Amino acid sequence: MESRDLICIVCPRGCHLHVDENLNVTGNFCPRGAAYGKQEVTNPTRVLTSTVRIDKAIFPLCPVRTNGAIPKGKLQEAMEEINKIHLVAPVSIGQVIVKDFLQTGIDLIATREMPIVE
Ligand code: SF4
Repeated sequence: MESRDLICIVCPRGCHLHVDENLNVTGNFCPRGAAYGKQEVTNPTRVLTSTVRIDKAIFPLCPVRTNGAIPKGKLQEAMEEINKIHLVAPVSIGQVIVKDFLQTGIDLIATREMPIVE
């Protein structure tokens, strides 16, 4: 594995990390940066936020996000799945839209209350 330089995004301090071939991390101010650096090099993940179509609600799109980080390599597949979803109001904030999304163990949840419009 090649060494990498990256910026820690775990907190606003934004430490400049160096991860060497043996996954030793330097430049991190705290242990969370070391964990982030190792993970970013071996299995990068991201929380995905997007919107899905919804009928009979005040807006035509309902904002959603994964309730944890999913592998970066699955983001394209995740967007394709999200584009197939079509909800019908009402939807509550925090409601699980897809459980165990793409078998990641992470759920896709609604991030806005979407009451029904008569
Ligand atoms: S290494 Fe620690 S202090 Fe530095 S940006 Fe990451 S979380 Fe923040």
